[in-house]
Amino acid sequence: LVCSMRAHYRSFSFSASLRNVMPAWVIDKYGKNEVLRFTKNAALPIIHYPNEVTVKVHAAGLNPIDISMRGGYGAATMAMKRDPLNMKQSGSEFPLILGRDVSGEIMECGLDVNYFKPGDQVWAAIPPWKQGSLAEIVVLSANEVSHKPKSLRHVEAASIPYVAATVWSAIVNTGGLNKDNSSKKRVLVLGGSGGVGTLAIQMVKAWGAHVTVTCSQNAEQLVRDLGADDVVDYTAGPVEKQLQTLQKFDLILDNIGGESEKWALDLLKPWNGAKYVTLVTPFLHNTDLLGLADGMMQSGVTIGCKVLKHLRKGVHYRWGFFAPSGPTLDEISEMVDAGKVRPVVEEVFSFAQVPQGFQKVEQGHARGKTVVSII
Ligand code: NDP
Repeated sequence: LVCSMRAHYRSFSFSASLRNVMPAWVIDKYGKNEVLRFTKNAALPIIHYPNEVTVKVHAAGLNPIDISMRGGYGAATMAMKRDPLNMKQSGSEFPLILGRDVSGEIMECGLDVNYFKPGDQVWAAIPPWKQGSLAEIVVLSANEVSHKPKSLRHVEAASIPYVAATVWSAIVNTGGLNKDNSSKKRVLVLGGSGGVGTLAIQMVKAWGAHVTVTCSQNAEQLVRDLGADDVVDYTAGPVEKQLQTLQKFDLILDNIGGESEKWALDLLKPWNGAKYVTLVTPFLHNTDLLGLADGMMQSGVTIGCKVLKHLRKGVHYRWGFFAPSGPTLDEISEMVDAGKVRPVVEEVFSFAQVPQGFQKVEQGHARGKTVVSII
């Protein structure tokens, strides 16, 4: 038995390897905060593929998607990602562990994993179709994991991966900005005071862009401290009127959605490659509502029409999505250790206080991130 186990795992460590259960917060059905349940007997996750690692969770970050997933958001798409061929007999994702951000320590590495070893201090953003970080241990693909910034404690590090991976995907992969081409660019961040916004401001500022931010008046100092050049208070009358008085933009990152889509694209420089990237998309909502095939078709039609409509006016309309990536986090880690990006942790909850952490995120008005300290 020992020999066959060694064939699968590079190393064994910690007492957890000898147990098959662990403490975790789980949900057994979708709903409000009451569905969160603490158990000492969640199934201990194990490595199934040679490119996987187990991570002992020290801290977990909370995001609005945890609140949405608690209520069933994205369930249809996540089920397809977990079980693409619909082979599983149980057909159930429960008990489901939420939590998309982890900062912790590598426990075990699959045979193909060369970049990490047990004991390495790491961070990761966990894809929504995988079991999350509100637990003692999480299993991830090594390419989703990265060495955490040396300058950060775990509770600070856990505030960054999910929003950083989202911002990178939206601004770099979709928006086309990077450290070499941003210095003369004007960027507008709609909604600068929450998790995504506070990271986005710092990243594009570090690359030399001019950054305009919308937020509530009482968040102005925070976003200025993070590098915002111009700040527009969206609570002081129609925000679009105030923004129209400014020079036009090369890139807009929209964290707010809704009405902003109706006026934001007019703020872009036309016929100049300028892009509007919104993170508030109907993609998962459509598949929840219409099923996978019809939902994806509906999303395709919606985005296609919008792209064409705006292309005729010389600007680009895009949807942005979170994309898990260890290499992206390596880049962010360097920026953090170089002092270019810092964590903005608004509140830390203990592992026993996970429901209070969810309440905090659900109330909105975030000023940075909410984190759970696990050990
Ligand atoms: P947060 O809850 O951390 O932050 C939202 C911030 O927006 C708060 O600070 C809030 O403060 C502020 N805000 C609310 N209304 C406005 C407004 N009209 N104008 C300007 N600011 C406003 O959320 P995140 O930053 O984590 O996420 C932002 C959005 O991006 C969410 O809708 C989220 O679902 C989405 N997202 C999408 C992803 C994807 O893959 N597509 C991935 C990650 C996030 P206040 O109310 O006090 O002003």
